[in-house]
Amino acid sequence: MKSIFIVGHVILVVILHAQINQAQELGRFSAETEYNYDESSGRGPSQWGYLNPNWTLCNKGKMQSPVDLTNVRVEIVPDWEQVYAQHQPSFTTLVNRGHDIALEWIGDAGSIEINGMEYQLRQYHWHVPSEHTVYGVRYELERHAVHVNEETNNIAVLSVLYRIGRKDPFLKQLTRYLKAMVELNINETSPGMIDPNDFARDDDSFYRYTGSLTTPPCSEGVTWTIQNKIRTVSGRQLDLLLDAVHGKENARPLQPINRRRIYLYIPCFWADWTSIFSSKKMDWSIIFTPLEYLQRKLFSAAG
Ligand SMILES: [Zn+2]
Repeated sequence: MKSIFIVGHVILVVILHAQINQAQELGRFSAETEYNYDESSGRGPSQWGYLNPNWTLCNKGKMQSPVDLTNVRVEIVPDWEQVYAQHQPSFTTLVNRGHDIALEWIGDAGSIEINGMEYQLRQYHWHVPSEHTVYGVRYELERHAVHVNEETNNIAVLSVLYRIGRKDPFLKQLTRYLKAMVELNINETSPGMIDPNDFARDDDSFYRYTGSLTTPPCSEGVTWTIQNKIRTVSGRQLDLLLDAVHGKENARPLQPINRRRIYLYIPCFWADWTSIFSSKKMDWSIIFTPLEYLQRKLFSAAG
């Protein structure tokens, strides 16, 4: 009888442990006090790997995120690397997780497919300033759309970078809820039905590399897709996001690229030339490797 209790206890501990790990993975319950972005507190990014035995990858990992998107290899996007998105409106909860603001979808908000694997949408969250940089340039804001494969727990994140300018229409839907959060000092509100379908159709070029979660436990094997087109956010919207987390910035410092390759996938039509050159941000890789680029372009046009 006693052994049954012991076995039961062990199983319970294992289940609880697994649940805690899963919770950290999605960041839902990570309290502000567990880790932060302030090096002077002793719990800043350089210490994350020592704060919890499950977080060692934050210091020891060789495939960590974010990275500077530089020395990219320009390729025509192959079908299997394309992101096939099938999102749908669903009920949401806006959560202040202390270190960031997250919009979590309750129920089925759809999924994306990359390389034959399906990932369900879990949540959006925001980093101020951007975590990824492009040729050394850091932008004002970065939004991460976290998708998880329910069987393997593999993670794919779709990222969008923003500079100050016009309002972001997606964030506009959340303004009153963010204000309520700040004014009433509450950690959770319900913005109701929100359509996650917010990915550009007119610009399909994107960066792709394999990295990690940018917050503890810094799990690796994350498929990163960073939209090439920089969007805009208003100064007020940015201030509101910052106010909600008491003015604390939440970008993890850049991590070494090590042996990884970063791709810039561009769609296979000539019109893309104009979209690359008309954007304020110059894609220098086209200058650095013009012959290779042209070869690919002509080869794919002929094919
Ligand atoms: Zn993030």
